[in-house]
Amino acid sequence: MTAAVIDGKAFAAGLRARVGEQARAFEAAAGRKAGLAVVLVGEDPASQVYVRSKGKATLEAGMASFEHKLPADTAQADLLALVAKLNADDAVDGILVQLPLPSGLDEKTVIDLIDPDKDVDGLTPLSAGRLASGLPGLVPCTPLGCLMLARDRLGDLTGKEAVVIGRSVLVGKPVAQLLLAENCTVTIAHSRTRDLAQVVRRADIVIAAVGRAEMVTGGWIKPGACVIDVGINRLPPGEGEAKGRLVGDVDFASASAVAGSITPVPGGVGPMTIACLLRNTLVAARRRAGVRGEEI
Ligand code: NDP
Repeated sequence: MTAAVIDGKAFAAGLRARVGEQARAFEAAAGRKAGLAVVLVGEDPASQVYVRSKGKATLEAGMASFEHKLPADTAQADLLALVAKLNADDAVDGILVQLPLPSGLDEKTVIDLIDPDKDVDGLTPLSAGRLASGLPGLVPCTPLGCLMLARDRLGDLTGKEAVVIGRSVLVGKPVAQLLLAENCTVTIAHSRTRDLAQVVRRADIVIAAVGRAEMVTGGWIKPGACVIDVGINRLPPGEGEAKGRLVGDVDFASASAVAGSITPVPGGVGPMTIACLLRNTLVAARRRAGVRGEEI
């Protein structure tokens, strides 16, 4: 069998276009644009790239983008004061603090201060609690992207065996909650799981969110399974290469020979993250302004 390759880039482009249309409808109804504030502390090159592309995508979707760039030596109190100011700012519907923060700043205290109704990254304890309790709230972007791709590929997920490898607050736990809400039978595996290959072999849906290059191989995959690879790992550069290749947590070559469908890296889950961030900003804006709109 050769797996169908799930085109996350194309799906994300479609989602961004739908969000853009709905953002225009929001602006007409609310008399203002939906707005996303992104806070970047320090000069981490990868974070700078992410923040730049988030700002660009926000503007392309017809939303307002507020970028706050602070020096690496910013005091915790000043960062907290900025978050408090953004919480109180009516033009701001979503607040994203780019992680990781420079050492010396306490991420948890900063994230905890974000108004849960503006928590477009879905990282506050209240957002996690709402998700676990089945209450409306904002869901972390990457897990939401994984769910959208799986649903698009498989339709109704009821009764499917899902195995999530990884239990982080950012990916593993929320993606497991989302699959549970879709009536999957969910197993969460982690570094202490015994006989991981055997556990993964029973999955109709595999979500790999580990951070270990090409760990999941074809021999672990049930024939026909849907494999969603969240991992982004850079291999050491080969001969004559300036930079090593980007690979996922799944060994694409062997897994795609067995799976029914699989996301590539890059071009799978990655592009979904920003698209879902825009979607979350629109959802937050609608809720805050009391404006209804199409499910997205
Ligand atoms: P974390 O490091 O926070 O979590 C990794 C998880 O994998 C942990 O729960 C850990 O278990 C588990 N794990 C580690 N080693 C093993 C092993 N040998 N067997 C089984 N489980 C193991 O990572 P994140 O969840 O933040 O990210 C996971 C991956 O997804 C990374 O590659 C990251 O770059 C990528 N990512 C991609 C995004 C995107 O936009 N596509 C967004 C976010 C992340 P334990 O808890 O026991 O330590």
